[in-house]
Parts: sequence; C-alpha cells; structure tokens
Amino acid sequence: MNRYVAALTLALAGPAAIAAEAPADTVYRNGYIYTVDAKDSVRQALAVRAGRIVYVGDNAGAKPLTGRKTKVIDLHGRMLMPGLIDGHMHPQSGGSRLLNCSLDYEALTVAQFQSRIQACLDKDKKSGASRWLVVVNWFQQGMLPDGVETTAATLDALKTERPVIVRSSFGHSALLNSKAVQLAGIQRDTPDPAGGKITRDAKGDATGLLEDAAQDMAMNLLPPLTVAENLAASRAALAAMRKQGITSFLDAYTDPETMTAFADLHKQGKLTARAHFAVLIDLDKGATPQSAVAELLKQQKQFDQGPTRVAPSMQVRHAKLFMDGVISAPAFTGAMLEPYLVNKGTADKPDWQPGPSTGPASYFSSEALKATLSELANAHIDPHIHVDGDRAVRESLDAIEYLRSTPAGKEVRPALAHDEIVAPADYPRFAKLDVTPVLSFQWAKPAPDTVGALKDYMGPQRYALVEPQAPLLNAGARIAFGSDWPVDPLDEWFALKVGVTRTAAPNAGKEYAGTLGTQPGMPRAAVLRAITLNAAYTLRQEDLTGSLEPGKLADMIVLDRNFFTIPAEDIANIKVLQTVVGGKIVYQAKGMR
Ligand SMILES: [Zn+2]
Repeated sequence: MNRYVAALTLALAGPAAIAAEAPADTVYRNGYIYTVDAKDSVRQALAVRAGRIVYVGDNAGAKPLTGRKTKVIDLHGRMLMPGLIDGHMHPQSGGSRLLNCSLDYEALTVAQFQSRIQACLDKDKKSGASRWLVVVNWFQQGMLPDGVETTAATLDALKTERPVIVRSSFGHSALLNSKAVQLAGIQRDTPDPAGGKITRDAKGDATGLLEDAAQDMAMNLLPPLTVAENLAASRAALAAMRKQGITSFLDAYTDPETMTAFADLHKQGKLTARAHFAVLIDLDKGATPQSAVAELLKQQKQFDQGPTRVAPSMQVRHAKLFMDGVISAPAFTGAMLEPYLVNKGTADKPDWQPGPSTGPASYFSSEALKATLSELANAHIDPHIHVDGDRAVRESLDAIEYLRSTPAGKEVRPALAHDEIVAPADYPRFAKLDVTPVLSFQWAKPAPDTVGALKDYMGPQRYALVEPQAPLLNAGARIAFGSDWPVDPLDEWFALKVGVTRTAAPNAGKEYAGTLGTQPGMPRAAVLRAITLNAAYTLRQEDLTGSLEPGKLADMIVLDRNFFTIPAEDIANIKVLQTVVGGKIVYQAKGMR
C-alpha cells in the first residue's frame, strides 16, 4: 500500500478504527476480570491505552492490541476488578491519626492501655513538659474486663509531666490526665457545656472523662495541624488508600487546610486517587442557605480542578449537611421517630420502657432544609446528608420529595449517609426519590457499639431493623459504600465481608458470635457494586469509572484471591496486589509481577 492509499484508507476508516489498531500500553491476560458492567460480566483479558480501557474480552481478542512495546501482564487466573470508590470518608483525620500515638481500636486491659501510651511517651523524647500527647483510636467500649473504669488516675500513673488526652475511636469521648484536666480549667463547680458532659465521681469531682461537646474544653487547647502536619496526613491517607485499592474517594467533611494539602500533593504529582470534597453547610452560626452556599462556591472556585480526566484531580461538588448525631449509647443524639428506651428496673432485673427522649430536634428544620437543598440544586451541588436515626431519614426524604417537585431539583443526586435505622415505610422512598443510601457495611455486626450500645435502648423490634442493608437493596435502592474512616480502621475488605455476612471478626469474642439480628447479608455482587459503580454515581463519575468497560478510565485493582469463590469469611483477608489509577500503577505488592 503506498502512502497515498494508506492515508485514504485511514481517512475513510475514521479515528475509531485507527485507535483500535494502535497497540495498547498494557494488556492483562488470563484473568478473572470482573467488570461490574450491566450484566456483571466476567472476562479474560483487558487492554489499556493512554490511561483508558480500550478492550475487554478474551485473550485472542487482545492479541491484535499487543505490540512490541506493550506490557503484558499474565494474571494467572487472578481477579481484576474496578478500583474501590469510597463514598464517605475523612482522609485528613484518618491520615493524621496514622501519625498519632494510636491504640489501634484494640480491646485492651488497663495495664496494656497504660503500657501502650507509656511507649509513645518514651519514644517521643523531643517534646517538652507542656506539649500535649494526643492518643487516638481508643476502643473505649472494648476495655477489658467488661465495665472496667478508666479515669484521670489511670493516666496519672504514667511517667510523664505532659498533658495527655486519649480520644475514643467513636469520637464521643476523651479521657484526660490530671494535668490536662487542670489545663482545661475544669473544676468541681464547672458546669457541663451545652451538648456535652463532664463525667463526675460520687463526690462531684471530674473523673477526667469528657463526653461529646465537653471534649472541646480540651480539644480547643490543642494547636491546629501545621501545614507540614496537614501534608503528612494527606500523604499518609493516600498511601493507606493505595494499599487498600481505593482509586476515588469523597472527603465527607472537608476544610480549606485539607484541600490545600491535597492541592500541594497534586502539584507534586503525588495525588494517587480521584479526590472529591464535601464542604460543610451549617446554618447554626448565623449563616443563611444563600451565604453558606456562596461560601461553598468560593471554596469550589479555589480548589475544584474541573471535570474528571485521566490523571487524578480534585473536585468540589458536594455539600455536607448534618441532620442528627448518632443513635448509640451514651450519645443518643440520633433523631428518632419513637423514644429511646430507658431501664426502669435494676441492672440485674432490667425493665426497658420508652423514656422521655426521641433525640434532639433535627439540626435543620424542614423549612431550612428545603431552602438549603434548593439553593444547592441551583448551584449544581449535590447534598450529602448525615442521617442516623429514622426521624432524620424521614425528614430528609420529605425535603427531597419537595426538591424533586422543583425544576432544578430533578437533576440533583442526593445521598443519605449512615441510615443506621430506617422506618420500613421509608425503604421504597429511596428508589422512588432516587436517593442513594451511603452505608458503612462494617457496622452491621455484633459488637460493643451494637449489642452493647443499641440493643436495649432500641428494644427488640427496632433492634431487628438496624443497619438495613438488604432491606434497602430489596426495596430497589442504589446502595453505595462509604467507610467513614477513621471511625473504624481503614479496612475496606473487612467491611465488604461484613456486608455479606453480618458477622464480626473471628477473634471478636464469643459474646459477639453470630450475625447481627436475623436480616440476611447482601449478595456479593451487590456489595461490590456498592463500592464501585454505585459510589461512582454519587461522585458523578459513573461514565468514566466504577466498571471495566471500553472507553472508561483504567482505575482497577488486582486481588490475591477471588472475592466470589472464597468462603465469605475469607473476604476480610483479601489483599490488593496492584492498584492502577488512570492506567498508572500507583501500588504494587510483592506477590505481583
Ligand atoms: Zn462521616
């Protein structure tokens, strides 16, 4: 073929045909390639060119795409799937906690608790007597033996002059040593702050334990993260994500300092996941829906880097709203339709009866929520609403029902995060109103925060409804996953396991054996769809990520075992061997060649 004829042929065939013939950069062969396409198809081979998937099919079909410079990866039957998309997490606090003194969410005896913290003190020789030691990821409800007390005296026994604060992983309490209590200005007659409690002993003296808003009395004394610490935190967060296989995420409650740190990493070419940020809308501090959304748009203008493209970038297109707190003891700040139960009997002979409280009034009134959602809709910002109790869920659905009746409200993609308890009458409304529940699957297991902190206070009927994953799925809801890291350790594979089994880890102890209630788990395919394509939908990225299909971005992971064929409990042990974002390998484990 002479040059003229070749050019003519190319011109006639068009760009698609040229593209199909150019060799791929990478070809994966001999795999169990789980695509998450409309049929959840499984294929054998996949090819990537310029960061995009150009072929999914059998080995033979990949051959014409394999040129001399194409890197060929033999998967040896291993599973390749879309990268994980975490639809709700807090990367900055997660990352900074990785750098703090951490108790790692472990169940500890008092002696172990003390020696772990002493080890942190001993290791940190540079800090002076006035510098706070911040200890994180304390599994407060898991202290051994059950019901053992921890007070300032527990921490005063440590060899240090420094103020010490130990923060519960749950975020609802903090323990101080006596030096810290003194610095926080807490005395015998100090009143409880609004929304918080200074725990006191029989004599009325503070024990060192601060609950909810009272924690601020100490937290406000901690210096904010420096620029360098913020950078270190986001760097640590991204490293943890790469290892887990997370290729996109939503920071569900961001701030300019966090976005500045991620923007710096982006500039350095070190942003290894597609980063989305939700800015808080809070009308408490005199803001109006208009002024709050205007502030969000200001941050969007500063940090949003435009539509999704091959290389990871930053997007600011979500608002975070809080409708309530948490339904579990001792907070009871979840907004409920029916009262929390209280024990009117004794510890030995309990008699659980409806108490006086259904939790707080929702943090947004019906009118304020409607006005805020409308303002967001006009600004093309998607609302991501924290709802834990069934009243918070219902009121949010009511406001979204109104929103859907307005022209701008039809295009919005609202997400309701957490949904720990939903009135069954509201299950079908998620599908009807096209609202995505963003669930943390790992909460659906017997654990101190369910068996211990929910069961009695909910009563048997409501307890049977908590963590309604399968019921929402069966009612047609598009379920997405969000880890809520660092409320729990970043362990997506454990969370997915719980989504399937509703069981705790095998070493959780016999009081936490069995499943949470009698609800079934979710089918494995639905669990994977929640953390891929459905989460992509909430980020408006489903045309480009979330499944492995030609034309989409090559965001994908190779697993060390097959999610579908291993025993369900083994899902928690899955290790990611390779993480690819936009065709670029950002993480590779030793076992992968
Ligand atoms: Zn959260």
